[in-house]
Amino acid sequence: MRKNIVAGNWKMNKTLQEGIALAKELNEILAGEKANCDVVICTPFIHLASVTALVDPAKMAVGAENCADKESGAYTGEVSAAMVASTGAKYVILGHSERRAYYGETVAMLEEKVKLALANGLTPIFCVGEVLDERDNNKQNEVVAAQMASVFSLSAADFSKIVLAYEPVWAIGTGKTATPAQAQEMHAFIRSIVAEKYGKEIADDCSILYGGSCKPSNARELFVNPDVDGGLIGGAALKASDFKGIIDAFN
Ligand code: PEP
Repeated sequence: MRKNIVAGNWKMNKTLQEGIALAKELNEILAGEKANCDVVICTPFIHLASVTALVDPAKMAVGAENCADKESGAYTGEVSAAMVASTGAKYVILGHSERRAYYGETVAMLEEKVKLALANGLTPIFCVGEVLDERDNNKQNEVVAAQMASVFSLSAADFSKIVLAYEPVWAIGTGKTATPAQAQEMHAFIRSIVAEKYGKEIADDCSILYGGSCKPSNARELFVNPDVDGGLIGGAALKASDFKGIIDAFN
């Protein structure tokens, strides 16, 4: 059975002190009851060691927002998958549209990053999604299928360790959300191409998260769809009560 997951992406927000305060608040909010989904918070690199040390791993896992496409060495400013894993983090977001658009991350670079993440025991949350112009021209399936090439070179055993996230770029941080029908349609498409490549069992077990202006008021109508297995949350992950409101959509 695939897992339902709510994962936060803090992006380049929160100083270390603010991040620690948010992680503590979330830890306290989640202490009482058992969430009906796995919870992950993905933080800037510098927060990872402090945040992993303070959260209850039974309630929440921690992840990075990126890692290098090289193993180690003379790559000034980069952070390797092994370094991320050494902080106690368990996940890493890869292929976020902001990384693709602003830092030129290509299908080939992302293929390397995914392999290095897996080799270091991290679970990649691999993001795909089309821009508005591509949707307006009904190219979304083609675009997403091409982006999936970064993970379609994995063995079946490795593919079954990753999490996917569909994030239509036009919905990220814009307040514009995909309709539940648009989300379901794309998630079903992604699952169908995973099934073609790896078979139905692996496709059925693959968690596919939705991302793009997800908030407490729309999370339930998105997550109720059969192929939507949770969310990757940006803005609403920066406030503990909003993030909890999204987690509660699974209650
Ligand atoms: C994201 O960047 O992964 C995201 C989904 O952002 P937001 O929720 O702010 O749209």
